[in-house]
Amino acid sequence: MTKGTPSMGHKNRITHIRCRRCGRVAYRTDKKYCAACGYGKTAKIRSYNWQTHNVHRQRVR
Ligand SMILES: [Zn+2]
Repeated sequence: MTKGTPSMGHKNRITHIRCRRCGRVAYRTDKKYCAACGYGKTAKIRSYNWQTHNVHRQRVR
């Protein structure tokens, strides 16, 4: 086991590819679901309340 720059040679696995639903490079090739929108795991779009991009929630606060 060697630390440092020579270890970067192990990082040749493709884990995330472009998602068909949200377009982000977050689709897991091994688990077959998208980490960003949940495509392949759920029919609904993966969404959480702590995602602050929703403008309506900022008024509630
Ligand atoms: Zn997605």
